[in-house]
Amino acid sequence: MTKILIIYTGGTIGMVNDTETGTLIPFNFKQIQQNVPELARLNYELEVHSFDPIMDSSNMHPDIWAELAKLIFTRYDEFDGFVILHGSDTMAYTASALSFMLQNLSKPVILTGSQLPIGQIRTDAKENLITALEIAAMKEHGRAKVPEVCIYFDSQLFRGNRSIKYNSEKFEAFRSPNYPILAEAGVHLNFFNNYILPPPEKELQVLLDFNSNIGVLKMYPGISQQAVMAITHSPVDAIVLETFGSGNTTTAEWFINCLKEAIANGKIIVDISQCQRGSVELGKYETSKQLQEMGVVSGYDMTFEATITKLMYLMAQGHSYEEVVKLMEQSLRGELTA
Ligand code: ASP
Repeated sequence: MTKILIIYTGGTIGMVNDTETGTLIPFNFKQIQQNVPELARLNYELEVHSFDPIMDSSNMHPDIWAELAKLIFTRYDEFDGFVILHGSDTMAYTASALSFMLQNLSKPVILTGSQLPIGQIRTDAKENLITALEIAAMKEHGRAKVPEVCIYFDSQLFRGNRSIKYNSEKFEAFRSPNYPILAEAGVHLNFFNNYILPPPEKELQVLLDFNSNIGVLKMYPGISQQAVMAITHSPVDAIVLETFGSGNTTTAEWFINCLKEAIANGKIIVDISQCQRGSVELGKYETSKQLQEMGVVSGYDMTFEATITKLMYLMAQGHSYEEVVKLMEQSLRGELTA
């Protein structure tokens, strides 16, 4: 019988209203089970692993990503697939981080959650959970249909490291702005095989370390030298530079000098666009030419979530500066199109 491990980390899906404060707080998995009697009707063997404490995903941390990856790695051979119940707020970060940590993944790791708690009548949680389990169990020619870290939400399956949370209110909470969806659930579960990663040739490897000493510099017209220097002069190891359009910034001399100095001091600067769709193209405009010349790294069409977790991951693997730069510009798990 197909075996799935459900890993419960928390999130709205399992939340209840705190009677004293009126706020939503995470609650144990039992109440999820009670609200989805259909789970017993699925023809799979399910095991549940609850994190302790269960949490609102705004409290997510790289240490917990490491716990998650370690758990999947140690129990990998026992299960056909893994479903992670997770708050939607930082789900795209966790999915991105896990995609980098789990190298040569050949089984599905599907993250899901919901916008309304499972106990509420109009909840979106049941469909999300049941279909995520079906996807995690799906096989073709004896191999997993989706050997990737994915997010399943509101009838759509996304590559995890291409996803963003884009809506805090609609059931359609996620999008994958620069990559097609991998599957869609309607009357049938339709998979778009051309977009799904091929199964790996090698054995699963897990890498658990992160370096989260990263600054973020978002461009806006009129940004002050002081604001820029607060990041470029700070003791961070890397900077994610959120630029205009296809990777452009002001050409003001003081600004260019601040970036040059940061690079000279060993900081890696990665350029990603504030636009959700499209790619960074360094050198296309005069306003990105100097960035290219000084060695700013192109993040191409990566999401912010994939960029920052990839940097955290690569900077902790003992690579040289040049290796991190090279790997940032390559697709490691389908996270970018160069
Ligand atoms: N604040 C919640 C969380 O991320 C939101 C959700 O689950 O949708 O844990």
